[in-house]
Amino acid sequence: MTFRPHHLLVDGREEAGGGELLRLVNPATGKVFATCHCADARDIDRAVSSGREVFQRGEWSQMTIHRRARVLNRFADLIESEMGTLYQMETQGNGRPFTETRAQVTRLPEWYRYNAALLLASRDAVVPMAGPYHSYTSRFPLGVVGILSSFNHPLMIASKSLAPALATGNSVVLKPSEQTPLTALVMGRLALEAGIPPGVLNVVPGLGPEAGAALVEHPDVAKVVFTGGTEPGRSVAVGAAKRFAKATVELGGKTPVIVFDDIDPAVSARGAAFGGFIGAGQTCIAGTRILVKENIYDQFVKALVAQAERIRVGDPTSAATQLGPVISAAARQRILEFVDSGVAEGARLATGGVPVKVPGLSGFFVAPTVLADVTNQMRVAREEIFGPVVVVIPFTDEADAIRQANDSRYGLGSSVWTRDVARAHRVAGQLEHGIVWVNDHHRLDPSSPWGGVRESGYGREGGWESFNDFSHVRAVTVRTAETDIDWYGGVAVDRLN
Ligand code: NAD
Repeated sequence: MTFRPHHLLVDGREEAGGGELLRLVNPATGKVFATCHCADARDIDRAVSSGREVFQRGEWSQMTIHRRARVLNRFADLIESEMGTLYQMETQGNGRPFTETRAQVTRLPEWYRYNAALLLASRDAVVPMAGPYHSYTSRFPLGVVGILSSFNHPLMIASKSLAPALATGNSVVLKPSEQTPLTALVMGRLALEAGIPPGVLNVVPGLGPEAGAALVEHPDVAKVVFTGGTEPGRSVAVGAAKRFAKATVELGGKTPVIVFDDIDPAVSARGAAFGGFIGAGQTCIAGTRILVKENIYDQFVKALVAQAERIRVGDPTSAATQLGPVISAAARQRILEFVDSGVAEGARLATGGVPVKVPGLSGFFVAPTVLADVTNQMRVAREEIFGPVVVVIPFTDEADAIRQANDSRYGLGSSVWTRDVARAHRVAGQLEHGIVWVNDHHRLDPSSPWGGVRESGYGREGGWESFNDFSHVRAVTVRTAETDIDWYGGVAVDRLN
């Protein structure tokens, strides 16, 4: 079967790319469902130049903030009107069940509206400088921002940075994952329709080591936002640092879920299943390292296994499906090898650990898997598996739970399950992770800063923290003395500090 390939979007026009066509596979069927042009380094250069030129012309970067906010709100309205198309395309691309994708994608417009609101609400500081001076700060946009996004939540990941980058007046070159590029192209077209000038948002599907690296290394890219694995993230962080470009890197995780014994294990097991198996475990924040108070350990594992076995694995387009396929055959193989390595190290396979055959579909399904009797030193407790596999580790007391939760090279998120309010705050205050939930998991909002520490990366998405990172601060100091400065004219009466 041949397909009419999707094009890159550069300078407001659909264009062919210099790379080899991308063949997009539906993870539920295992079959190619579309093809897409693929950017090479020359295409990236054209996209960055287009962004740079429109930035310098000022059509967007110098637009009044009130008008820019209105355009962003129109963009949000258009995204809302295309919601059905967007979540169906997203599911076709990454296999995430409709129900989950819809829950996430329907919230996208909030990111644009929130950042439009921040733009209107932002204020500069008056600085209390000593001497006859009125000193204040003002901000100016960075220029061209490169956004490199992952396959697991293509629209949400892109929007978390696209919204503040556009709100603050930057141009953007968005390189979506080569596995899931199509919804980003729709966003590019909607941006044009909303009145965002051509060249302000260029969308260039392409491969990481070629198009992605070319974007990171481009001298005219002022900030790089990367969401993806820790190893590619390391080379992106180094590439940006070499040019002194700003960078936000949102990387992998091994999120601890701490379960205390003051909460019914049936309730915490439901929460842990939600934390671990959403998106078939293919989320950076998946709660895959479950730490359980030793006196309820057996009871908890039993309840979690029952939860895992109740999850309906199947066709992601069916409303009844709760767990879809993983992204590729290679990912499925990697996940199953991880399970084997856990068993070889002494873990007990409590449920799952096998591929699932879904009638009529030949995609990459894996059963929700629970590995029990795991120690925090085993490979399955230390490395990101990125599949529907959770490990359960016992702890002795609160101090031991905190120690094990923090004992990881990752530090993106964590969740704590307890009914004791004092303990909840006490433990949250000692977790060295960028995000802590109490009695919940996975919650995100445009107002809340999201990001990690250690090898989960640096920088934040969401809130003022992210908004302010898409502009530079400029300090303006105005002399207000009646006399003019005459430093060399006589006895120096002024002072330098
Ligand atoms: P990936 O690292 O394979 O790819 C992510 C993006 O980076 C893609 O666009 C890819 O083309 C590009 N890329 C790959 N190598 C590159 C290179 N050398 N230079 C420049 N760009 C390059 O990740 P993935 O498989 O798409 O996503 C899964 C990973 O993303 C997981 O590790 C997950 O934890 C992480 N993730 C993190 C967050 C977060 O907020 N911290 C959110 C979602 C996903």
